[in-house]
Amino acid sequence: MTEETIFSKIVRREIPADIVYQDDSVTAFRDINPQAPTHILIVPNEPIPTLNDVKPEHEPLLGHMIRVAAELAAKEEIAPDGYRLLVNCGRHGGQEVFHLHVHLLGGRPLGPMLAP
Ligand code: AMP
Repeated sequence: MTEETIFSKIVRREIPADIVYQDDSVTAFRDINPQAPTHILIVPNEPIPTLNDVKPEHEPLLGHMIRVAAELAAKEEIAPDGYRLLVNCGRHGGQEVFHLHVHLLGGRPLGPMLAP
């Protein structure tokens, strides 16, 4: 069984978070350490540790996460200027929380894709 992280507690509303969207399969909440004016994390309600653990049956869920991210970008009024979706995977990817999540970042020009 997948080990739980703090994100499962947020999904179950056991610890506080600024949840901006939730449905039967995903939860979205504001990042506690925002890197841009809009910085939201979209997570599956059932934890998947990393992209390396994604199975074919997860494809609809991942598509849904991305669609929710795009809808939230529209709601945050950052869609016309553009934004960035980011998934960190594993150690080299800089992943800190091992519960798959898509970062939605926007609200300012984000610069080059990678830090120098
Ligand atoms: P990553 O490096 O892709 O694993 O990103 C993990 C993100 O989770 C970071 O941007 C953290 O700031 C964010 N984070 C960690 N704990 C919390 C929390 N309790 N509520 C909201 N965001 C969090």
